[in-house]
Amino acid sequence: MISVFGSANMDLVAYVAQAPRPGETVTGREFRTIPGGKGANQAIAAARAGAGVAFLGAVGDDAFGPGLRAALAEAGVDTAGLRVVPGPSGVAHIVVEDGGDNSIIVVPGANGAVTGPAGRDAETIARSDALLLQLELPMDAVVAAAHVPRGVSSGAEVILTPAPAAPLPAELLEAVDLIVPNEHEAAALTGRDDPRDALEALLGLVPEAVVTLGARGALYGSRDGTRLHEAAVPVRAVDTTAAGDTFAGALAVARTEGAGPARALRFASAAAALSVQREGASTSMPHRHEIDRLLE
Ligand code: ADP
Repeated sequence: MISVFGSANMDLVAYVAQAPRPGETVTGREFRTIPGGKGANQAIAAARAGAGVAFLGAVGDDAFGPGLRAALAEAGVDTAGLRVVPGPSGVAHIVVEDGGDNSIIVVPGANGAVTGPAGRDAETIARSDALLLQLELPMDAVVAAAHVPRGVSSGAEVILTPAPAAPLPAELLEAVDLIVPNEHEAAALTGRDDPRDALEALLGLVPEAVVTLGARGALYGSRDGTRLHEAAVPVRAVDTTAAGDTFAGALAVARTEGAGPARALRFASAAAALSVQREGASTSMPHRHEIDRLLE
């Protein structure tokens, strides 16, 4: 079983020829509300890829909360650990221009009210094989969650997506088993622009690291000396939103099923390649039978 302790946001997406300048009003072409947030995305990706998944986080008592819960539940994610707190849910206000450029305002809302897991939530993490973390919740809460498995003999492995990029406190790094940044986050964390150099620097911080390289695939390294490069599956990408979250969710599934690094990378790359061929975030994530078919 996989626990995801993370964010749930409603993505409010306006599609427009050109984003308005300050003081300007423009007419958009289309508007969609799409459940998102890195935590919810990773939970849905892992559930679709075949794992039992529990989501721990918070939504507001506004109109978006039930929609976020329903999106997780529809994917088969256990939402018993999804709290409702007074005030607005997290939202991401997204403007997508015709050329594909986008600008995003994230207002954390209920995500900002999440504190370190206690009681039943801590027990859920303690029972898990893997714990997926990202950085869209308050840092103190993320650090507290990362330490829960350490108190358990067969504790969950802790997998961190360090996004949005932020300085990582030592108390967090000491509890992380595997870090999965994209190349931009890896560069921001390490100060090394070359992803292979960044990978080596990351291994100075945590035992295992994956650096995702978009259409160029992904690099893996471990302190035991293993280094791998998995090429991306060649596909025609139409929307790469949440490719990284799909990759991280699927990677966790493969690892909890006992796959070694090479097989886990292939599985995650296949899931992410399927997701970039469809529009949207959670809407684009593949089911297990699709991933297995691509890997045949
Ligand atoms: P993020 O979405 O976090 O920026 P990346 O863009 O690095 O992450 O993508 C994560 C993974 O998704 C890549 O390692 C790769 O396996 C897959 N991927 C991303 N873009 C493509 C693409 N155009 N074609 C095939 N696979 C892709």
